[in-house]
Amino acid sequence: MKQHIDTAPIWESYRQDCECPLCLLNTKVEASSVDYFLGESVMEPSQRVEVNKKGFCAGHFKMMYDAGNRLGLALMTHTYMKETIETLRENAKRAKDAAAAEAGKPIFKRLGGQKGAGLAEAAGEVRDLETRCLLCERLSQNMERYVYTLLYMYKHEAEFPKLFSESKGMCLKHYAQALEMAPKHLSGDVLKKFVETLTDIEVKNFERLSGELEWFTNKFDYRNQDKPWGTSKDAVKRSVNKLSHQVVVED
Ligand SMILES: [Zn+2]
Ligand SMILES: [Zn+2]
Repeated sequence: MKQHIDTAPIWESYRQDCECPLCLLNTKVEASSVDYFLGESVMEPSQRVEVNKKGFCAGHFKMMYDAGNRLGLALMTHTYMKETIETLRENAKRAKDAAAAEAGKPIFKRLGGQKGAGLAEAAGEVRDLETRCLLCERLSQNMERYVYTLLYMYKHEAEFPKLFSESKGMCLKHYAQALEMAPKHLSGDVLKKFVETLTDIEVKNFERLSGELEWFTNKFDYRNQDKPWGTSKDAVKRSVNKLSHQVVVED
């Protein structure tokens, strides 16, 4: 069965003036995922099971807290915490056993890379608990789908290559993702043309942004005080986006 390809979000993003149209989509998916996990998913048993298994990373827990739905977050966090306690109980046993084994070893056996290996394993399991994130997973699946759609549009939608070539390129993260996925979905001349265009606009727009940043710093020279900002006023914010895929909202 042919899967439905929703091209509208890509068209919409590429019609906006921004440093990375994929980052715009990423921000939207992230915001709707935060709402989803605080609302709808709390009522869905299968999603609760997933949340209990994986939890969320620091950044996404913070986003969910900042979203203000304390009851949604409390309900979800409570069951996740109960499951985490189970893991911690098992983990505590392993950590104690590892410490006892380590303590019983003669000094010469505790030298080198094996020192504390059992406890390092237990620590690794705890670290997994802290870093695994269901929202990150959902986001990356969605973004992969969007990059696929972009490549599909480049090949099949007559008007898209022009709009794409007039865009300002991408942030480094999405640029890498597009380069990596291109040969999986494009071939022959279309692949060549896509990579040529993408790499050209990427370098060109990094140069353009670097110039804008330079003028931003020059504006702090008193001799330039009265000269116009041009497009440089928000160059720092846009550079953060270009280099780190963080979309800074506040000015
Ligand atoms: Zn991006
Ligand atoms: Zn995350």
